[in-house]
Amino acid sequence: EAMKNALLKNRGRSREDVIKTLIDSFHYPRLGPGMMWEAIAERITSDGSDLVMNADVCRLRVSGGRVESVTVRHGGGERDVKGSHFISSMPVRELIRAIDPPPPDEVIEAANDLKYRDFLTVSLIIDTQVLFPDNWIYIHDPGVRLGRIQNFKNWSEEMVPDPKKTCLGLEYFCFEGDGLWTMSDRDLIELGKKELGLIGICDPSLVVDGTVVRMPKAYPVYDSTYRESLATIRGYLSSLSNLQLVGRNGMHKYNNQDHSMLTAMLAARNISGANYDLWRVNTDQEYHEEGEAGDYGLSEYEGLSSTQPRVPESVPRPIEQVIIRAFARLDKLAFALSVGTATGLAVFLATMFLILKGGTGAHKYVGLLDQYFAGYTISVEGAFIGLGYSFFWGFIFGWLFAYIRNFFTGLFIFKIKRERELSSFKNFIDYI
Ligand SMILES: Cc1cc2nc3c(=O)[nH]c(=O)nc-3n(C[C@H](O)[C@H](O)[C@H](O)COP(=O)(O)OP(=O)(O)OC[C@H]3O[C@@H](n4cnc5c(N)ncnc54)[C@H](O)[C@@H]3O)c2cc1C
Repeated sequence: EAMKNALLKNRGRSREDVIKTLIDSFHYPRLGPGMMWEAIAERITSDGSDLVMNADVCRLRVSGGRVESVTVRHGGGERDVKGSHFISSMPVRELIRAIDPPPPDEVIEAANDLKYRDFLTVSLIIDTQVLFPDNWIYIHDPGVRLGRIQNFKNWSEEMVPDPKKTCLGLEYFCFEGDGLWTMSDRDLIELGKKELGLIGICDPSLVVDGTVVRMPKAYPVYDSTYRESLATIRGYLSSLSNLQLVGRNGMHKYNNQDHSMLTAMLAARNISGANYDLWRVNTDQEYHEEGEAGDYGLSEYEGLSSTQPRVPESVPRPIEQVIIRAFARLDKLAFALSVGTATGLAVFLATMFLILKGGTGAHKYVGLLDQYFAGYTISVEGAFIGLGYSFFWGFIFGWLFAYIRNFFTGLFIFKIKRERELSSFKNFIDYI
């Protein structure tokens, strides 16, 4: 779709038909999205409401199925803030850890199981007016650690005060505490300069200055256990009637900014008496109140789904596909029928052959079958009796063989998969 979009340049297609993330022009705040929140803060305070910034919620006091208050760390002190309704956008893991009295052990365990991917930007000022026309470029070169480059000037010229210069944001995806995260700012700037040169974006000597911004918990991790953990947490939180979770880390959901805002807007409507299920935002295309079919003026947001990151689904890994193909399960019935038919036909044809051939040489051996097959003789009638018996025993043998073979193969595959899961988690940790 991206290639088609780039080559055809939307020819013959209306703006609505183009996937939202591929449109080539859009409104952008002059100095970045923070301007939206500055405007909202201004509106809240000019209405006479309180807005406390740089305050850490470190405890939620819970009683009788409700949140009674939150403890806020602010300006070197702590204070309790009571409320009738609470909306949380803090990471789910931290929220659960802050609840007092603590939730049941399995809920804490589920919260501890949630993982996050962290992120840092090395911003470099480059002594060049124009470097490239894109807003951002993903870097797939295995020779560098850099994952993406933002060209801030192309988002908005006002984001770079000196028009003769360019400011690039070199984005590194990492984990808090790993080698990249703990590297000094100076070394990170040097790494960024070197990597810009390696991928041919610009000569490192053109970089005149730089700074580093670290962003913990930039992405909620969708691993093989997060759904189960989140279900346990949601089950517990549903008992707190005046607490709603919104946003990205607030719901451990890969919401983009628009959907994060939408969850918060719907939460506000819920406080005013509506009944939206916030967990369905980014899952459903339509935002209806629960239990009612009407459209509550939200149809304009329904197209937002195309702007959201895809939810990864687990697919068998190549090694599993190889194992499954190499140790394909035997169909017990088919195998039993085949063995039964083969042995039945063998005895039938052998008997017929002996009848046609005449003589007694082999008769005494084949004739021994009457010890096992009552009524069997070397005759046409005996051939059919032999066919019936040997089909029956062949069928039983084939079925048992397939069953035992499947059982041990299943055990073997389970063992390999288990070892692989453990080692892939170890590889993942080693890799980072
Ligand atoms: C690198 C990157 C690029 C992105 N690009 C885009 C993009 O181009 N378009 C787009 O739509 N989205 C983008 N997103 C996603 C977007 O940033 C998020 O969807 C959005 O910011 C989520 O909003 P939020 O309010 O849930 O969380 P946040 O914006 O993270 O706000 C949560 C706030 O809660 C505060 N907080 C946390 N814990 C506590 C606590 N205990 N007490 C008090 N406060 C606390 C945090 O400090 C933070 O200010 C991007 C995200 C990343 C990481």
